[in-house]
Amino acid sequence: MSGILPFDDLKAQVAEGRIDTVLVCIVDMQGRLMGKRFHAGHFVASAWEETHCCNYLLATDLEMATPEGYAATSWETGYGDYVMKPDLTTLRPVPWLEGTVLVLCDVLNHHTHQPVPHSPRAMLKSQIARLEAMGFDAMMATELEFFLFEKSFDEIRKGGFQDLTPISGYNEDYHIFQTTKEEHVMRPVRNHLWEAGIPVENSKGEAEAGQEELNIKYAAALDTADYHSIAKHAVKEIAWQNGHAASFLPKWHKDRVGSSSHVHQSLWTDGTPAFYDADDSLGMSALMKSYVAGLLKYAPDYTYFLAPYINSYKRFMKGTFAPTRIIWSVDNRTAGFRLCGDGSKAIRIECRIGGSDLNPYLAMAGMLAAGIAGIEEGLDLQPPARGDVYQGETAMIPDTLPAARAALGGSVLMRRVFGDAVVDHYCRAAEVEIEEFARVVTDWEIARGFERA
Ligand code: ADP
Repeated sequence: MSGILPFDDLKAQVAEGRIDTVLVCIVDMQGRLMGKRFHAGHFVASAWEETHCCNYLLATDLEMATPEGYAATSWETGYGDYVMKPDLTTLRPVPWLEGTVLVLCDVLNHHTHQPVPHSPRAMLKSQIARLEAMGFDAMMATELEFFLFEKSFDEIRKGGFQDLTPISGYNEDYHIFQTTKEEHVMRPVRNHLWEAGIPVENSKGEAEAGQEELNIKYAAALDTADYHSIAKHAVKEIAWQNGHAASFLPKWHKDRVGSSSHVHQSLWTDGTPAFYDADDSLGMSALMKSYVAGLLKYAPDYTYFLAPYINSYKRFMKGTFAPTRIIWSVDNRTAGFRLCGDGSKAIRIECRIGGSDLNPYLAMAGMLAAGIAGIEEGLDLQPPARGDVYQGETAMIPDTLPAARAALGGSVLMRRVFGDAVVDHYCRAAEVEIEEFARVVTDWEIARGFERA
């Protein structure tokens, strides 16, 4: 992509005084960019080789707390350092910030320089490597849905998150006029990301007031995860620059539609779509059928990676386009898994379970592990479901965070693929959310019971 910046070009631009700042970032468990702002002169002189961060960054929560119970990092072990190793292939301009570029880092053990196993980028890389050994490349796309609000993050926070007025007054699904009113945010999002080498396809209004969707062209899985993380960050920053808030909370109001992040998946061999078979009635190869069967069989095992918070599960409601059952279907938006591009080389499976709060590295790592298991086990795929699949008897997606945590913790597959330490690490992350929520007295409880209980 034209936006990707060769290191020598960066050096030249720094020498010319055009670039002065390098954002050196890891992606944390929550999918956020975390790191440091380097003076570009120091980055090109030495920091490009490696820098460091406190190892609590991969054992904290949204509040940056230091919860107990992680084997990998703790007060007892003194919260040491991780190595942040810049992946110079991710070096790119940040056109919405003056004189700034960004690089993503792999997270390495400070002593051994080996990848930290529970680092989201390392987890995805491990599954990509397994697929490569089988002769396949994973091509993926993640959709980003979010809400734009009239006020800024700071105004909303100072107001106690009470005045949440979306930027538009009505359902703006595919609306051109309403989304024209949002172009002061969305046009720079599309154009700046494009300039940063992120192949934006389009943005569109979504099916609720103030809801937008951003689509990025499918790419190799690691690139897709990098694109998603940077694009989500860009949406928030560009909304902020324009005095608005952009929220990726999956469900900010009980009566409003939630926000998702659907994940499109296909495997390829040497540039040929390995999921396509012209002789099949739907165009699905045997390989694709086993992959999809694996996604279905192990859906509970990786649901945590698609829905990591208490709020994530508020989205799974009948009749909202968010799925509730582990079922696949042909171009049917009520199913957890939807076959897209049937009968063509664009054939792919779309997982519709994930919320807008998913970490794309973890989500794709979990799903690739399941799909690979389906191939290895030679699983058969049941015929597709038809009609309104909210009805029926099929198994449900875990519908609470405790249920998803239990499914992850009990997953023989996830333990075999990622190792016990990694699974225990993420089970602890889920527990931290559950424990924090259990301590809170919600507005709903007060309003319901204050007088009447
Ligand atoms: P939808 O019907 O969900 O709106 P789109 O046509 O907008 O579908 O495509 C959604 C996403 O699927 C896009 O990001 C696109 O790049 C991606 N996509 C297209 N072909 C493939 C493929 N073979 N593998 C993975 N993703 C793909």
